Amino acid sequence: PKETKKPAREVKTVCPYCGVGCNIYLGVRGDKIVSARGDTDNSVNKGNLCVKGRFGYSFINHPDRLKKPLIKRNDEFIEVEWEEALDYVAQKLSGYKGDEFASISSARCPNEDNYAVQKFTRAVMGTNNVDNCARSCHAPSVAGLAKIFGSGAMSNSIDEIKDASCLFVIGTNPTASYPVLGLRIIEAVKNGAKLIVADPRNINLCKHADIVMNQTPGTDVALIMGMMKVIVDEELHDQAYIDDRSEGFEEFKESLQSYDIETVESITGVDGELIKEAARTYASIKPASILYSLGITEHTHGTENVFALGDLALLTGNMGKPFGGVNPIRGQNNVQGACDMGCLPDTFPGYQKLDDPNTIERFETAWNVDLNRSKGITFPEMVMAAKNGDIKAMYIVGENPVTSEPDTENIKDAMNSLDFLVVQDIFMSETAQMADVVLPGCSYAEKDGTFANSERRIQRVRKAINPVGESKPDWLITSLIAKKMGAKGFDFKDASDVYDEVAKVSPTFAGINYGRIEDEGIQWPCHNEEHDGTPILHTEEFKTETGRAKFIPLTYRPSAELPDETYPLILTTGRSIYHYQTSTMTGAVEGLKKLYGEDYIDISREDASKLGVVADETVKVISRRGEIKPKVRITDRCRKGVVFMTFHFGESATNVITNSACDPISKTPEFKVCAVRVEKILD
Ligand code: SF4
Repeated sequence: PKETKKPAREVKTVCPYCGVGCNIYLGVRGDKIVSARGDTDNSVNKGNLCVKGRFGYSFINHPDRLKKPLIKRNDEFIEVEWEEALDYVAQKLSGYKGDEFASISSARCPNEDNYAVQKFTRAVMGTNNVDNCARSCHAPSVAGLAKIFGSGAMSNSIDEIKDASCLFVIGTNPTASYPVLGLRIIEAVKNGAKLIVADPRNINLCKHADIVMNQTPGTDVALIMGMMKVIVDEELHDQAYIDDRSEGFEEFKESLQSYDIETVESITGVDGELIKEAARTYASIKPASILYSLGITEHTHGTENVFALGDLALLTGNMGKPFGGVNPIRGQNNVQGACDMGCLPDTFPGYQKLDDPNTIERFETAWNVDLNRSKGITFPEMVMAAKNGDIKAMYIVGENPVTSEPDTENIKDAMNSLDFLVVQDIFMSETAQMADVVLPGCSYAEKDGTFANSERRIQRVRKAINPVGESKPDWLITSLIAKKMGAKGFDFKDASDVYDEVAKVSPTFAGINYGRIEDEGIQWPCHNEEHDGTPILHTEEFKTETGRAKFIPLTYRPSAELPDETYPLILTTGRSIYHYQTSTMTGAVEGLKKLYGEDYIDISREDASKLGVVADETVKVISRRGEIKPKVRITDRCRKGVVFMTFHFGESATNVITNSACDPISKTPEFKVCAVRVEKILD
């Protein structure tokens, strides 16, 4: 008989696939998830779900899930009991205390798991070498927005988007990467909002836009500075707001002088009249909201791109107001939370700075240990340190850097150089295959916890089924390793108990506990239990030392690798609507793989004709770092000279050819621009 899909019960939780944080009801029958539907009462998604949230749950019960701990012996993984695995990991890690050790925490896992990893790294291993995959995406937002405004998160709320008067969407493809938020943008247009889209490709949203600018990848600083010069020259800036709430305007104004419209036109490839129209529209229709994501941040000047957007919002008086602000849309479901929990080498939970002596003292008292006061290193620096032999052991939880990071061979070299690598995951990822020990964590459907979505809303993740096989919640595994190593302070009763400690040590989250977020999440900061949270940041003052926002003067710098005769095309990368990151989860969902099962290269008609290639033809794509062989899609989305690839599949491994050159401030790699050559494969 056909297996019934009708759930016996439903459990309310949060979608694990992007930073929108849609609330879903998982349908459960026995120990299986059999359905998912959107929560119609929730303010984030109002019942909507995209294809991943609605149909992407079958990975949870996939037969390939890791079910027992594995230890590699003679190059083969052997299943062992938990006790043996934990003893082995604890004994090995005890030999590498201090800065010889580093950990990577997971932007897919709940806050509680992330808190446990950074506490283990700092309090047990004695180092601040902890990072998370925000390094590869929104670290420039954290650094850039914090410097200008004093806080590195989305300033406004998702529900405000539909009522905005003007939206400037730059370097983000919301209908593919954050589809339910994309719906809100389209709703705003239907409600009469003006929409300006700036993107190197003609993304879906362009169909709904009043103004579209297809800038050359990597030229955003020039484009935004050019817009600001028009605004200042035409006196469309908000002088009263600037006088009242900012500092450094005169010096900033000087830095605009080199951005005359002809220069900006030649750098960006965007028609000067269009740039002027965009500037006038954004400056005159208020309040206006800026929405961006990785098209802004994943550059060697990603933090400068973020500074430019902050400057633009400040110049026009759009900060601290409803329907305005600067809003980085978070890609991974809990990348906001991984940063909030202090999985960063210079920041403790709640963005308490390591270089503030009060921070160290507060945590030494709370955790009853002596802490390392030296700043840790970022993931790209860990890669170098592993290759140099300075880092000897790593603990990677719920991340797959071998496929997700640029220049794959470089990452593999680093992993191979380690003495000891522990990977904790739900599937045998490309990174897990290189580990000495693999520990089976459980999925979001099998554990309690919290995710923080893009708008800083802490929401409840609820256990729907028992852990698959012998897998365990990640916070518990980390705590068991810590206890095996003799550490105190890891006797958490449950996930709620972990969160209570987070609230105790972080003033930003002090008013949040599981009881308060039972029905609807709370947006931080939330300083006490009487506080309702903060939907809009900076309404009264900025969180800088002076309470004023700071204008940052900027000079345009080209990308690290520009096209030349040997590599004449610019490759830029992005997401498919059907998949999430390196597809360890969505790749295990049959239906999603059928809809999109491999990474293609998108090529403009002109370039395809010049190269003599046709749709579905397999071609060589070669960069200075290697070559891959994807199939061709011919598209009007790419302009001449620009090609595009998704990065979801290990088999096609787009990141074999991307560039690992980093932004000097945030150390975020330049995924969005590298020079390539496309070659026909001749028989
Ligand atoms: Fe999940 Fe994001 Fe889709 Fe919502 S928009 S269902 S959070 S992937």
